[in-house]
Amino acid sequence: MIPVAFFAPTPEVTMPSKPSKKLKALRAAVMERAGFRCEGTPLSPHCRLEHGLPHGKKGKRAILRLTHLDQDPDNTDPSNLRMLCGRCRTAWDQRFRELSAAAARHRSNGQIELFGARP
Ligand SMILES: [Zn+2]
Repeated sequence: MIPVAFFAPTPEVTMPSKPSKKLKALRAAVMERAGFRCEGTPLSPHCRLEHGLPHGKKGKRAILRLTHLDQDPDNTDPSNLRMLCGRCRTAWDQRFRELSAAAARHRSNGQIELFGARP
């Protein structure tokens, strides 16, 4: 006999199809604060790439995106929100991807963490 849990539905991961009015308002406020320019990160504090203007070797348009610096979408404190260009966002997110990958490797090794998360 197959256990009932075998057929239990897996929780669906859903992405919101459209941003909420609250998110749109938040994005607009942060974009206005930023003056339609990338606000940079501690890794790239001087980036001021302007939204919509071509840049780089290929001349692609810069698209600024609302970014939560701590990666927590529930933390909407203004100090945690930045409008970032793709380059700044990728560099910033890379730190979190590396930490996440390291944590996953650590878990897959079957080891437990005795002294908190590794840096
Ligand atoms: Zn930037």
